Amino acid sequence: MLNIVLFGPPGAGKGTQSERLVEKYKLIHLSTGDIFRANIGGGTELGTLAKSFIDKGQLVPDEVTINMLKSEVEKHPNAAGFVFDGFPRTTPQAEALDAFLASLNSEINAMIALDVPEDELKERLKKRALDSGRTDDADPKIIESRINVYKNETAPVKGFYEGQSKFHAVNGLGSIDEITERLFNTVDNL
Ligand code: ADP
Repeated sequence: MLNIVLFGPPGAGKGTQSERLVEKYKLIHLSTGDIFRANIGGGTELGTLAKSFIDKGQLVPDEVTINMLKSEVEKHPNAAGFVFDGFPRTTPQAEALDAFLASLNSEINAMIALDVPEDELKERLKKRALDSGRTDDADPKIIESRINVYKNETAPVKGFYEGQSKFHAVNGLGSIDEITERLFNTVDNL
């Protein structure tokens, strides 16, 4: 299996680039943000719970997120691999993912981070708010909170994969195609 964690702050372009990776390497895309939004749209109990955190720019609790992720992986027993987008976002999530993949005789092959400066991120999120309809993109205070959560809780996950020599950074500035090319090069050299 080829399992990639696509990493980067809100607005880094993980969703767009995940689609490219999935197409080229025939992987399954698992975006925890997308799954939460689908649950919110469907009015499920999980959706109601997730919304109460997402609307404040906070993380959904680890236990809830980890259980949801596991059940999504289990829906694809014959997958060639996965692109994890927006997960793991905390060190306990990374530890749980390692243990879970080990139980399937698999592992994470690489974490690839999209590097984008903070000013550019804020601009992108403002633009995305105009057409995504995402309430968490529309309010500068919520964006600020998401960026702070990223710095405090999510950025340390990089160290977790560095410790396993699985961390790779890619410049996230440039055209979508240029960034895709950099990602493909990284994956092909794993
Ligand atoms: P972005 O990366 O642009 O902030 P996402 O769509 O990945 O957006 O996530 C939106 C929101 O969903 C996050 O701000 C958070 O509240 C919640 N969320 C997504 N993934 C996780 C996760 N792995 N753990 C906890 N909360 C999450």
